[in-house]
Amino acid sequence: MIQLKGIAAASGISIGSAYMLGKEEFVVLREAINWTDIPVQIQLFEEALIQTRREIIELQKRISSDMGQAEAQIFDAHLLVLEDRMLIEEVISRLKKEQLNVAYIFSEVLKKYIGVFLKIEDEYLKERAADINDVGKRILRNLLGTKKKGLDDVGGRAIIVAHDISPSDTVAMHTKNIAAFVTDIGGKTSHTAIMAKSLEIPAVVGLEGVTSKVNPGDILIVDGSMGIVIIDPDEETLRSYQAKLEKLKGIADKFLTVKDLSAVTTDGRTILINANIEFPDEVPSAKLHGGQGIGLYRTEFFYMNRKDSPSEEEHYQAYKYVAEEMNPYSVVIRTLDIGGDKFLSQFKIPYEMQPFLGWRAIRFCLARPDIFKLQLRAILRASVHGNLKLMYPMISGVEELRQANQLLGEAKAELRQSGLKFNDKIKVGVMVEVPSAAMTADILAKEADFFSIGTNDLIQYSLAVDRSNEKVAYLYDPAHPAVLRLIKNIIDAAHQAKIKVAMCGEMAGEPSLALILLGLGLDEFSLPPQVIPELKYVIRAVGFKATQELAVQAMKLSTGKEVEEFAQNRLAQILK
Ligand code: PEP
Ligand code: MG
Repeated sequence: MIQLKGIAAASGISIGSAYMLGKEEFVVLREAINWTDIPVQIQLFEEALIQTRREIIELQKRISSDMGQAEAQIFDAHLLVLEDRMLIEEVISRLKKEQLNVAYIFSEVLKKYIGVFLKIEDEYLKERAADINDVGKRILRNLLGTKKKGLDDVGGRAIIVAHDISPSDTVAMHTKNIAAFVTDIGGKTSHTAIMAKSLEIPAVVGLEGVTSKVNPGDILIVDGSMGIVIIDPDEETLRSYQAKLEKLKGIADKFLTVKDLSAVTTDGRTILINANIEFPDEVPSAKLHGGQGIGLYRTEFFYMNRKDSPSEEEHYQAYKYVAEEMNPYSVVIRTLDIGGDKFLSQFKIPYEMQPFLGWRAIRFCLARPDIFKLQLRAILRASVHGNLKLMYPMISGVEELRQANQLLGEAKAELRQSGLKFNDKIKVGVMVEVPSAAMTADILAKEADFFSIGTNDLIQYSLAVDRSNEKVAYLYDPAHPAVLRLIKNIIDAAHQAKIKVAMCGEMAGEPSLALILLGLGLDEFSLPPQVIPELKYVIRAVGFKATQELAVQAMKLSTGKEVEEFAQNRLAQILK
């Protein structure tokens, strides 16, 4: 039994068997061959080399057009391995001498080569070992006729173990019956972690080296609340986690008793609790968990895992469905937010050194009015089918808001010209997630209908902590005094201008911190559906006045840790 500690990314406990994603398991059997088979075996080897060359060139082409020439050049080293005469001749001469199947001979030669390179005290040559390993695996795969394992092969209630999982992989998981996932890298609010919540499965990320410690089929316990993964648990540990699962279910049932009630404090302040969704098919879960609207619909997932872009009609149908299903509750559609850790292959975004600071979200949309206006027209058209609002991500100052609204005006004019109906008075909000927007919230509030605080990014940008990097995850702190001050500034500015302020970042779903947010005057919370009942329960158990006092105290503390402890203590008293 081995216990590993990583970053808790999505809560819950799952027990299941490991499925190694993207990792090949070759079973290379040692088989004697007849000397008459030697030419056939040599031919097999040559065909595998040709096929591998073809694959690498294809990959190189794709990477060159998607990411740039420099990245594609990495594969030149791989092509060189394929032309290494020494390696090829050694395989053929041993094949003739030992009269064993070519796959086995090749795997033996490969091991020897890698071993030699790994022993050399030279970083450059050490890296060559990785190249040889990579190409060697490809050749072996072609020799054995096996496929690299992808999500398509997953069966049963598997626990996915991978070095990394991209947001688009998680989209593919949507249709799979996956029990949990664990990764070597990643941070708490990376979009991969957020998707785990949308899939309603536990996830632990940033578990350095988990892929080298787990073997396919190992029994794993994933505790997504504590960030713990146990490999090969003993009987007693298994029993204790099964008991924990039961207990968690009991607690969840207690929270579920209030899911359909409103979140009203003991002294009468009513708070709106909305759900965050990534796909229209999450609407039933949002309603089931007591969501009183959709506070954040992340539309970019619609563009993932497809070669083309969704048409205006496809956008329209998706938004219409969500608007109708949630009516009369409101639905806030967030316009396309790509870049950062969300990569859409159809848009050919060039490689960037700092993608989170680069061509992302509204910056991309303002530069590509064709893509942006197509989405805006679809949202506007769907607005007649329910209570739709829209909001722009990553606004850094009022000029961007004005530019976006200018394009919205153009989209409206185009619809008018085509005689299509829309709600001309659709509410337009600003996501406040860049420190410059938080600091100029008073200016923005004069031109926005509402605010929604995106703490996932606001924390990353204000504390200079990459939200998807496990190495700096210890600095990613929602309770940091700097974050609390920015939030207070945003709420005060919004209220001064008499507009409502919501929060849709993951922080809104942390009950202890929610007490402080409540006290600071936040009007609405938007969170992953499964956390809604717990938040409603907490809000219904506390007085608004008490949270105001609590917020005043919290704002006086010096560190995030102090704030966190303080809020946790209060929460424990409330839930007693
Ligand atoms: C945020 O940044 O807090 C947010 C809600 O948006 P996303 O997580 O999609 O960047
Ligand atoms: Mg964001």
